[in-house]
Amino acid sequence: MIENLERILHELYPELVAFRRDLHMHPEISHQEVNTPKKIAAYLSALDIDVRTEVGGRGVVGTLKGGKPGKTIALRADFDALPIQDEKDVTYKSTVPGAMHACGHDLHTAALLGVANVLSTVREEIPGNVVFIHQFAEEATPGGAKPMIEDGCLDGVDVIYGAHVMSTDPLGTFNVKEGFASSAQDDFKIVIHGKGGHGSEPHLAIDPLVTGSQLVVNLQQIVSRRVNPQQAAALTVGSFVSGEATNVIPDTAVIKGTVRTYDEEARSIIEQAMKQMTKSTCEGAGTTFEFEYVKDCPSIWNDPDLAEKVEAIAVETFDDSNPIHHTPMMGSEDFSFYQKEIPGVYFTVGGGNPELNAVYPHHHPKFDIDERAMLDIGRMFIRLVFRNGN
Ligand code: MN
Repeated sequence: MIENLERILHELYPELVAFRRDLHMHPEISHQEVNTPKKIAAYLSALDIDVRTEVGGRGVVGTLKGGKPGKTIALRADFDALPIQDEKDVTYKSTVPGAMHACGHDLHTAALLGVANVLSTVREEIPGNVVFIHQFAEEATPGGAKPMIEDGCLDGVDVIYGAHVMSTDPLGTFNVKEGFASSAQDDFKIVIHGKGGHGSEPHLAIDPLVTGSQLVVNLQQIVSRRVNPQQAAALTVGSFVSGEATNVIPDTAVIKGTVRTYDEEARSIIEQAMKQMTKSTCEGAGTTFEFEYVKDCPSIWNDPDLAEKVEAIAVETFDDSNPIHHTPMMGSEDFSFYQKEIPGVYFTVGGGNPELNAVYPHHHPKFDIDERAMLDIGRMFIRLVFRNGN
């Protein structure tokens, strides 16, 4: 059965490559996707799969009802591009100035459509239902996952899987990390208001630059002194802007940065401690302040039992010569919002290949990927559907 379905997937490969390259040539960046969701919806509808469009805004959700009893499994692919100028020299280079599929979301989309196509040919044999979640705006904050969930994309769904291709891992490799697999990402902005004045008369001014400097140093104590050492965390001030002239005391200082955590407990301790420290540092110096803390994605949490199942399937699917990796992901992913609702696993497959110049990191202007990685994502998804609940 599985071998037969993989044969169908291979037969579809040229069509899927064409679909991916069409998206690659016509990228649409986060929250501006118009034609991409239309193309996805048209492909799914042609397979006689129930399609719901404009889910949570621009998302597309397909539902395939299986002929046998079983759970409902969701498979998710993102479809947004990035505001990057494509600098590759290939026939399928982006035709849109300043926009590019530089993270492989075009390939994720083609892979999931291939899976939908294959599964639609054997719907009577499928245990349970399969929900295809095509998500918009993964790269943005706020992203597309949350509004899609609020609009019901997980209604009746028992379990969810997502995949990302990695140009930095060679084609044919597989990675899944149980438990925490990526950090939560939060950003902050602190504006300190003092009182400007002449550099020669500091006693007549309230200097927000000095207060800001103290605050930057004080913030360094939070991860080292407030957070449990067993819980990894990073707090980085990435920007501190105040004043321009040598003889002018500025009236504001603006401090911006990012916080990365795994554990929700550490995450909330850091936010509270930052608020407290900003208040005491500023009030002590006679300045006022605005404190803004924006929570982006939580961390990816891969259900350990499901991750074990995914790994066992990967062992059967991938070549013995490539061991399974268990490396945490860099960056954040709004797939974590789905995992707050239902158990799920997010895994990555390699797509790097020096012969195809697919060697650049994600979000690089020359990013490219060995398209055969879509077969690996497809093979995993197909097997997961038939192992669902077993
Ligand atoms: Mn991505």
